[in-house]
Amino acid sequence: MIHLKNAAQIAAMKDAGRITGEALLVARDLVRPGITTYEIDEAIRRYIEKCGATPTFLGYGGFPASACVSINDEVIHGIPSKTRVLQEGDIVKIDTGATYHGYVGDSARTIPVGKVSETAMKLIDVTRQSFFAGVEQVQAGNRLGDVGSAIDTLVRKNGFSTVKRYVGHGIGTDMHEEPDVPNYGTPGRGLRLSAGMTIAIEPMVNVGKDAVLEQKDGWTVKTADGSLSAHYENTVALTSQGVLILTQVERDF
Ligand code: MG
Ligand code: MG
Repeated sequence: MIHLKNAAQIAAMKDAGRITGEALLVARDLVRPGITTYEIDEAIRRYIEKCGATPTFLGYGGFPASACVSINDEVIHGIPSKTRVLQEGDIVKIDTGATYHGYVGDSARTIPVGKVSETAMKLIDVTRQSFFAGVEQVQAGNRLGDVGSAIDTLVRKNGFSTVKRYVGHGIGTDMHEEPDVPNYGTPGRGLRLSAGMTIAIEPMVNVGKDAVLEQKDGWTVKTADGSLSAHYENTVALTSQGVLILTQVERDF
């Protein structure tokens, strides 16, 4: 069942979204060669708690941290660790969420560590652009297939591939609500969008093929071919006034 949100509920989601977005800014400002993924996670947890919110990821399905921190060919769900040290040239995906007054924000960014390859920069850029191509289609009367198709078309035009196995999702009082929001689709097909829908749109894009493999730790997902992967996610709300991006607090990030 899809939970449509009224104006007061969307206002509450704005607060949760802002805290989530700010936590990612804190993380971004820490990213540099030599820092551990554990330190990034700790900073995110402290920031979310300082805001009076709860780190949504901590304990979610048994996840042991407040953020997923995934490096290079790790697509999503990397577990922060004191022994994972960021190196010059890496790209790091940081995905986190905050629960505030019962509502959840969910957002992810991919950040270059020092100077990275041209391909890595292009991947980060295309992944971000594909999110906005999807958001452009979030209009009352459009369908989820319009959103997914816009994302996938932009990605393929740039020679990359969209992960199919993991998708975006409805979000509200729970991090994962109905519907699924795939990063691919057929225009004019799928669920019709209407005001009050709140969804997390989160393209995961690989330089190589779209296949992914779950790792033995039970969480980390990597590209099957070892190619680089990027992730960009925001929680968005469709209102009668149009679409709002709830977790983006800085225009260029
Ligand atoms: Mg997320
Ligand atoms: Mg999500």
